[in-house]
Amino acid sequence: MIPFNKPFASGKEYEYLKDAVATGKISGNGKYTKKCQSFFEDQYHFKKALLTSSCTDALEMSAILLDIQPGDEVIMPSYTFVSTSNAFILRGAKIVFADSETNHPNIDANQIEALITPKTKAICVVHYAGNACDMDKIMAIAKKHNIHTCEDAAQAIDSFYKGKPLGAIADVAAFSFHETKNIISGEGGMLTVNNEAFVNRSEIIWEKGTNRSAFFRGEVDKYGWVDIGSSFLPSELQAAYLYAQLEEMQNIQNRRKAIWNQYYEGMKSLEQRGVVDLPHVPDYATNNAHMFYLVTKNLEERSRLIEHLKKDNINAVFHYLSLHKSPFYKDKHDGRELPMSDFFSDNLVRLPLFYELTDQQVSHIIESVLNFYK
Ligand SMILES: *Cc1c(COP(=O)(O)O)cnc(C)c1O
Repeated sequence: MIPFNKPFASGKEYEYLKDAVATGKISGNGKYTKKCQSFFEDQYHFKKALLTSSCTDALEMSAILLDIQPGDEVIMPSYTFVSTSNAFILRGAKIVFADSETNHPNIDANQIEALITPKTKAICVVHYAGNACDMDKIMAIAKKHNIHTCEDAAQAIDSFYKGKPLGAIADVAAFSFHETKNIISGEGGMLTVNNEAFVNRSEIIWEKGTNRSAFFRGEVDKYGWVDIGSSFLPSELQAAYLYAQLEEMQNIQNRRKAIWNQYYEGMKSLEQRGVVDLPHVPDYATNNAHMFYLVTKNLEERSRLIEHLKKDNINAVFHYLSLHKSPFYKDKHDGRELPMSDFFSDNLVRLPLFYELTDQQVSHIIESVLNFYK
């Protein structure tokens, strides 16, 4: 069976894990954490990068930093992972779900402004499949109405909007290094802060509400409890694993892009025949090869395709279910129809894409899809 995903080691992961243990410090904010954070700040010009235990944690930190209070409204796409919403729900927010674009699961920037009310506090976009949302439009709306912005960049490492790194545009952003993402550390994530006003507080929230980081830099002569916070730091073991992956990032990305291109070339005849849609990359976005998906005509066809692939020993999987229709939120949603979100919930199917997937395996998967549509 070809799995949908497979975690991998790309280089010095075991060496660095051993070194972290030998160094005698495996709690957070040690040598490897600092190496990873510097890597990101140097490479992508984030004002501040803080490793976290997950992207979920980074989103929760974002909601605290943006000072979300009970009753505040936060606009986000319905077609996303639960953590995008949960982080704001935990602060008492009301989520105002927006629809996806017609040719991409990303939030439709043209529908955002109509959702803004005096209670709107933030917009949280999700760069689906690592493809940028239309950030110029979104940042202009936020500026005009004086509301904060957050990027759920969980899938968006090493991807760009008009040359700007994703995660470097909104006030804050959250990345994931979960084993299903491009660059992994098992569980893992990162908060990036781009608005100077949030930089100092981000470190305090990260360190359980204390000014411990400033203390270790010698900026204050004692440290104590100064704000709310939690234990958002990952251990040095996660950071050591992650650093080894970062050293191999271009290699990993090149391999993923090669797989993505092989899929695209092998199946573009299906799109030309109008049988199925392949991923659309907007012209302002780059493709970081996080995901390769097909969009079928209806739910029944998608179910048959997944079954067909299973018979050929291929594990293909669908993705999100519209959050506005979830058991938790359907009674809290304001009743607006979000047809494109439902469309992608019913019709999008993801094919295996991981570093160790071979050319032969990709060919086998392409053959299987082509046979289904014969
Ligand atoms: C993976 C993912 C998350 C959650 O990441 P974790 O690191 O598992 O917490 C959140 N949002 C999106 C869009 C994701 O793809």
